[in-house]
Amino acid sequence: MHYYSTSNRELRSTLKEAVIKGLAPDSGLYMPSSIPVLTRETLEGFRNMELPEIAVTLSRTLFGLEVPEAELTRLTQEAINFDTPLVQVEEGLYALELFHGPTLAFKDVGARFLARLLGYFTRELDEDIHVLVATSGDTGSAVANGFLGVEGIKVHVLYPSGGVTPLQEKQFTTLGSNITALEVDGSFDDCQRLVKECFVDEELAGQMKLTSANSINLARFLPQSFYYFRAWAQLDPGTKAFFSVPSGNYGNMTAGLVAREMGLPVNTFLSVNNLNDVVASYLLTGRFKPRPSTPTLANAMDVGDPSNFVRILDLFNHNYEWITEHLHGYSYSDREIREIIKEVYREKGYLCDPHGATGYRAAQTYRKEHPELTGIFLETAHPAKFRETVEEQIGEAVELPERLAAFTDRKKEAVFLQPDYQEFKQYLIKSR
Ligand SMILES: *Cc1c(COP(=O)(O)O)cnc(C)c1O
Repeated sequence: MHYYSTSNRELRSTLKEAVIKGLAPDSGLYMPSSIPVLTRETLEGFRNMELPEIAVTLSRTLFGLEVPEAELTRLTQEAINFDTPLVQVEEGLYALELFHGPTLAFKDVGARFLARLLGYFTRELDEDIHVLVATSGDTGSAVANGFLGVEGIKVHVLYPSGGVTPLQEKQFTTLGSNITALEVDGSFDDCQRLVKECFVDEELAGQMKLTSANSINLARFLPQSFYYFRAWAQLDPGTKAFFSVPSGNYGNMTAGLVAREMGLPVNTFLSVNNLNDVVASYLLTGRFKPRPSTPTLANAMDVGDPSNFVRILDLFNHNYEWITEHLHGYSYSDREIREIIKEVYREKGYLCDPHGATGYRAAQTYRKEHPELTGIFLETAHPAKFRETVEEQIGEAVELPERLAAFTDRKKEAVFLQPDYQEFKQYLIKSR
């Protein structure tokens, strides 16, 4: 097994190289040269397992050639230490709750796995490795918490000042230890630009080891395939299902499509957007036209140029017909998101977060034409993370889960930074 770049299939990297570098040297994204297919027996065996146990089997299948079994088992168990239950919302329609990890969003799965795999690959280095991550909210908290206390790794989280919710901010500015938060006097795009500039700065590369924890790293999205198996295994045997995936950078969707290649018997995926509907437009027209993002209530889906989309093109050999056979596009406005949250709560007694709400509606709509199928929408974050929006719709207080409430009393610590590359670079060099 080797890893190639989506820009050059001839490139051959090891898993270690791909995980440490994040982005391929030609700026393509790494993909596995072959995707192992599970036996029917292995699949059936998942029916009696929760996510942590399924994760161990699947991480051996994916990474067993490159990481010794005992190490891989240990790091997988440490990373994936919570379940992803399927909850029925109505007849034939389920929520896959991905928010039972420490920061209450699905990004915990990938971030925790990446942190430990990177820790394993770099433990022999005699210098620290620096992880840079730009966040509009959820990624920062999942990555920071995922890497907290992992030896030999220092994490720098860049976020737009005033651009994340107060609770999100607390989740990555109060950790201390090997985590530093950088409050940038600018936008999320400024943060992302600063990070990108570091990776093309050869002088900086000569002075310190840098890597990225954004979802371009393959050790972040591949483990997300685990919970698609867990979802399927919770259905009655013989049930035909489809997945509805609220999407931003399309890491989650890519993971689902990889699960399908590994033998998950699911063929249909709904690609769900908010007003940032670049992929929905592509699925309608065949033209992919990135554009600046528009802020919405489902802010983790506010992406105008989805970074993992090229991986989806690659998986389907850039064949538009083939892509549209498996992917169906939907998109929803903020007004619709508000209505959905209110309606699902009133009529079904289930509380969706703004992202999950879009997934619910798409699944419900698709089922009207395909009533023989069971829909599973990914509930990507706990509704309390978007408390203001949700409470306004349901007219009731939403209780903060204890894990989240614990952050509110802690003291914020952040380095204030102008969106200036030279200033950022000097800060990094000093932090070595
Ligand atoms: C990141 C995120 C998404 C989008 O996932 P992608 O893998 O980027 O498509 C959706 N919902 C929530 C809550 C998220 O944090």
